[in-house]
Amino acid sequence: MKISHIEHIGIAVKNLNEAIKFYEEVLNLKCYAVEEVKDQKVKTAFFQVGQTKIELLEATSEESPIAKFIEKRGEGIHHIAFNVDNVKSALEEMEEKGVKLIDEEPRKGAEGLNIAFLHPKFTHGLLIEFCGKDNTDN
Ligand code: ZN
Repeated sequence: MKISHIEHIGIAVKNLNEAIKFYEEVLNLKCYAVEEVKDQKVKTAFFQVGQTKIELLEATSEESPIAKFIEKRGEGIHHIAFNVDNVKSALEEMEEKGVKLIDEEPRKGAEGLNIAFLHPKFTHGLLIEFCGKDNTDN
């Protein structure tokens, strides 16, 4: 497995439109995409900052992991996503190294990328996401 860069930083927010306003009007960044990821019960907004993106996440349901996160810890950094050459093989490598996975198999995230989360109990408290463009059909 090779991590090339931080693909994005996921930030949990209570109100996506208000947060977008802050990033655009105060930080002067441009939101280039808003997308709902039904699978994760979230609405996302993306900002490009150099090679890395900021992904704002708002829960669309009380059962959303983002709703639970905000309830427990408030708004803030939710996860960091590393770009890997191949998500599936990265997961296999993590399993071999004794890291528990939240996602045993890559699934579809925002922007059509394959994504998978590692269990934060095995990563010193950080929710790590792997993402990449690998084809999951093989
Ligand atoms: Zn993410």
